[in-house]
Amino acid sequence: MKPVVLALLAALAFSQPLHAYLHFTGLRAGKPVAITWERAPVRWFATDRGVPGVSPSDFQAAMARAFSVWEAVPTASIAFQFAGFSGAEPFEDDGVSVVGFQDEPDLDRVLGATGFLIDTVTGEIVEADIFFNSTFPWSTAAGGDPDRFDLESVAVHEAGHFLGLGHSALGETEPRPDGGRRVLASGAVMFPISFGRGVTHDRELQPDDVAGVSALYPDGGFRAETGVARGRVTRNGAGVRGAHVVAYSQQTGRLVGGFTLNDGGEFEIAGLSPGAHVIRVEPLDDADVDSFFSARSPIDLDFQVTFHPRLFAAPRGGTGEPFTVAVRPK
Ligand SMILES: [Zn+2]
Repeated sequence: MKPVVLALLAALAFSQPLHAYLHFTGLRAGKPVAITWERAPVRWFATDRGVPGVSPSDFQAAMARAFSVWEAVPTASIAFQFAGFSGAEPFEDDGVSVVGFQDEPDLDRVLGATGFLIDTVTGEIVEADIFFNSTFPWSTAAGGDPDRFDLESVAVHEAGHFLGLGHSALGETEPRPDGGRRVLASGAVMFPISFGRGVTHDRELQPDDVAGVSALYPDGGFRAETGVARGRVTRNGAGVRGAHVVAYSQQTGRLVGGFTLNDGGEFEIAGLSPGAHVIRVEPLDDADVDSFFSARSPIDLDFQVTFHPRLFAAPRGGTGEPFTVAVRPK
């Protein structure tokens, strides 16, 4: 059957008026399913085109390092293979996965984006493409370049989309006078806003990213060694959709986030280290909601940041006792 294109496009913005991991989901028999690659290794081509300061081979090497960061996660199994330089362009929907620079001056706040071709019957990713916007200055310098965006950092983020991850809301921003937002801190490479020029911080994954890729491609004892939190977020007894739920491990200091994804306010967060967690629920209000959810599924922002009054004990393997977090209107 011919795969059907899903208009899934996830962009990494810088100072976009925006602010856990979220998997892209498709529908199979009416039920949401994660979108993943079934084949291994996943073959990718690079466009044979550089930009000032970044040769085609610099580009290819940085992209390969970015993919290898995800391959190196011990609790996940995903493999990528560079298949060669190509004259093909990203987003041609030709069944070939291509990454490369493109000049998109109109997208003046978008550093890069990933798009997909998905078999909507199986949820399998058939093709993924990444573009990096050559409107911006780029660098592959080992220590970064203060005047340029670090290609490898943005590539690790886009590679996360490429394997099926959506954005994480684990980050803090503040408004800027120009209407954008400045990132103060982020707890995930998959946070939708870049730190900005010169910062190489996102070359390394954070615990939320590791939990995300491991939940999609579990391996190395992931299911046996980590626990799942499952529950509901309610307000006046009714489910809250699109709440950001964050689990903080008191033992390891790790933060892993998730979202309530339906009208019942149900959430599930996998990949928690065994032991006690503080659970915090917050509205997605210092972010551009479009970065996380499609406009077709409106989400609820009308509630206060709420801590679950009890600690959640993540088991070693399996799911802990389900719980409900009751939030109050603003
Ligand atoms: Zn993104």
